Amino acid sequence: MMFVDVATIKIKAGNGGNGAVSFHREKYINAGGPDGGDGGKGGDIVFAVDDHLSTLVDFRYKRKYVAPNGEDGSSNNCTGKSAEDLVIKVPRGTLIKNAQTGRLIADLSGDEPQIIARGGKGGKGNARFATSTRQIPRFAKPGFPGEELEVQLELKLLADVGLVGFPNVGKSTLVSVVSAAKPKIANYHFTTLTPVLGVVKIAEGNSFVMADIPGLIEGASEGVGLGHEFLRHVERCRLIVHMVDVSGSEGRDPKEDFLLIQKELARFSEDLASRPQLVAANKCDMATPEQMEEFEGFIREQGLECYRISAATTMGTKELVEAISRKLSELPPIREFEPEPVLIEELSERNGRRFDIVNENGVYVVDAPWLEPVLNSVNMDDYESLQYFQRVLRSSGIIERLEEMGVEEGDTVRIFDLEFDFVN
Ligand code: GDP
Ligand code: MG
Repeated sequence: MMFVDVATIKIKAGNGGNGAVSFHREKYINAGGPDGGDGGKGGDIVFAVDDHLSTLVDFRYKRKYVAPNGEDGSSNNCTGKSAEDLVIKVPRGTLIKNAQTGRLIADLSGDEPQIIARGGKGGKGNARFATSTRQIPRFAKPGFPGEELEVQLELKLLADVGLVGFPNVGKSTLVSVVSAAKPKIANYHFTTLTPVLGVVKIAEGNSFVMADIPGLIEGASEGVGLGHEFLRHVERCRLIVHMVDVSGSEGRDPKEDFLLIQKELARFSEDLASRPQLVAANKCDMATPEQMEEFEGFIREQGLECYRISAATTMGTKELVEAISRKLSELPPIREFEPEPVLIEELSERNGRRFDIVNENGVYVVDAPWLEPVLNSVNMDDYESLQYFQRVLRSSGIIERLEEMGVEEGDTVRIFDLEFDFVN
């Protein structure tokens, strides 16, 4: 299986159905009133976690996702049917970003599905436009387009513990002996190309998730060789378990290796380097007492705790697991990332800034679904806030259209629940 942890896809929510133009017809009744119904809402694009998925590989092959459109309205005041949402399943821990701006839209770590692109509202049927001065409205409105954007998916695994260390120190062996996971174990480098999550059970109802992070090597944070891409999976970990081969069985010096990996973590992010850490001195079955003591002394100097283990023979692994569990009980929960606030530019770009304005008995009624969140965030008593709102009205072309329609100083303009007098 290929491990894919980033992908860029296009998503497009469904368009709203069109409003209908129709007039009531009944035997013996002439000139019935308008009865064209509204269009139905387009389907949303929704993302949801599926725990059977562990990579983003599916998104390599299918890159465009389109939700169905709402149905058009019809006569007899029939509203068109709203379309079903399109639910896209992703592995737990997937971040969704705006591919153009990099803005974090959502962190799919919890169980709550999230709407990432909203379906367009249906257009209004002609029945809605009957007024005392316009009894025969021969027009209806088209549906609003569904939001459309390109998103980057990035998987950041959810694990309590990230197991890091040079290739071949015995990380996969440890995960295989303390959990039911079965990562590949072999005596050559880069056997593990897929981070493997193992659930470690300590007692009934007490367990943690340990991630076997593939070999970090020198220069990994600059993208040299493998490992660089895998560091992102350590980012959420509450605790890092840093493993070395204390026996130096491959002719390596465990102290040097330890420092190199620390440097790699720091180069990726300071935050990672200062994450709580335990050290596992592995392959103790092959190490001399002097080797172990020297290494332990060195780790103590760094202010860290060191555990002697032999993953292959399971010696010391129970004590290590208990120490991890104790430490975790003192640490905050797994990190979830806060979505960044959406900007008006993104909202209006997502659905082409479509708006409608209708003159209803002298009131100019503006309909623009993308404006609603802006309006909700505007404080009408605050001068700056109001200025911002006016800029949006101008830059989106709404003011210009009002003027084309003949709006005059003092006329009433309505946008959703907000009514104000037009001033120029
Ligand atoms: P990884 O690359 O860090 O995941 O390392 P592996 O778990 O694949 O192990 C690399 C090699 O070291 C394999 O041949 C293992 O059998 C061996 N190994 C792992 N742990 C121990 C240990 O505690 N003692 C000894 N002698 N060999 C070990
Ligand atoms: Mg391995």
